[in-house]
Amino acid sequence: MPNLTPIPFIDLAPELAKQRSQIDEAIRRVLDSGRFLLGEELAIFETEFAEYNGATCAVGVASGLAALTLMLRAFGVGSGDEVIVPANTYIATWLAVSAVGAKPVPVEPDLLTRNIDHTQISKAVTARTKAVLAVHLYGMPCDMDALETICRQNNLWLLVDAAQSCGTTWNGSRTKCLGDAAAFSFYPTKNLGALGDAGAVVTNDSARAEQIKLLRNYGMDTHYQHELKGINARMDELQAAVLRVRLANLNQANNQRKQLATCYQRCFTETKEIVLQQQLPPADSSWHLFTVSVPERDNIKIDLEEQGFGVAVHYPVPPHRSGAYRNEPGGWPELPVTDFLAGSLLSLPIYPGLKKQHAERVATALIRALSERKTHERTS
Ligand SMILES: *Cc1c(COP(=O)(O)O)cnc(C)c1O
Repeated sequence: MPNLTPIPFIDLAPELAKQRSQIDEAIRRVLDSGRFLLGEELAIFETEFAEYNGATCAVGVASGLAALTLMLRAFGVGSGDEVIVPANTYIATWLAVSAVGAKPVPVEPDLLTRNIDHTQISKAVTARTKAVLAVHLYGMPCDMDALETICRQNNLWLLVDAAQSCGTTWNGSRTKCLGDAAAFSFYPTKNLGALGDAGAVVTNDSARAEQIKLLRNYGMDTHYQHELKGINARMDELQAAVLRVRLANLNQANNQRKQLATCYQRCFTETKEIVLQQQLPPADSSWHLFTVSVPERDNIKIDLEEQGFGVAVHYPVPPHRSGAYRNEPGGWPELPVTDFLAGSLLSLPIYPGLKKQHAERVATALIRALSERKTHERTS
């Protein structure tokens, strides 16, 4: 079947074009100010981003990984500690735990929500466990009520990798999705994207927020008074100024993602082989990604790509099977759900500016590819 025009997996151009004059103006403002680090734009962005999340403090940093790492440090996680992480996540979640000298302890996802299976957390807790680092995968919130209860019972911090969940709500609340603190990424393709690298930690714990402010800037309190062994993880004024423009447009952009997700959900109601990410009633996803699981994923992916449809896999190699973690002393537990999902997940295009008719064409092509494979199986 010939495809009319290729549909890319991601295209940042339409949204940037809409905001272009505001972005130009923001960049001009920074150039005119002559201040490029730790200035007014960052301070204002931090206030606005804290407010957006219904929290008291936000600290802008250089990337999502820096946000995760400094968040863990500020909550006292370090050498010899264990942190419970989802087995199926982007590897950065694990790398942040390793970066502070702690050990990531993987817990399997729930097959349908694809988020950490909270019923399996308690048995992974040891005397060394300091925190749960939850991920709202693809933007879909974890069961925050269950996670809060488990963390309270076991005296653990509830920390969140919110890289994919800018705008996500649980029971209508963004604040509820933050736990004790949450680390955001503003990587260009995230829901709130910078024009380069940036990230932030959001929390109601003002003392720890202040600590992160020191840590991101060489541990410096007042000029040349270094109170902590910090790093350089500052967010540029240019990125902060651009993020302020994009934050003002975020709800609109997220609404577009939601409409596209609803469109896909409608298209797939009759197709049992396409298993959607389950949305529990209190959950409202930011729809960073729209990810389904399908049989024969690799072949289906090739079929769609040959027809000009951009699709992707998040993530083909789970962290415990990556080169970075493969040779862990003592090895990893069996993680069959994680392995199964890595082999069957497929992400479909979803971004502001993608037309509903285009999403429908992707959906139709996926349904057709699956039924043609089935026919092929029966006749071969
Ligand atoms: C993108 C992402 C990160 C890392 O963010 P960077 O800004 O690229 O450092 C961490 N965790 C998850 C789940 C992500 O999707």
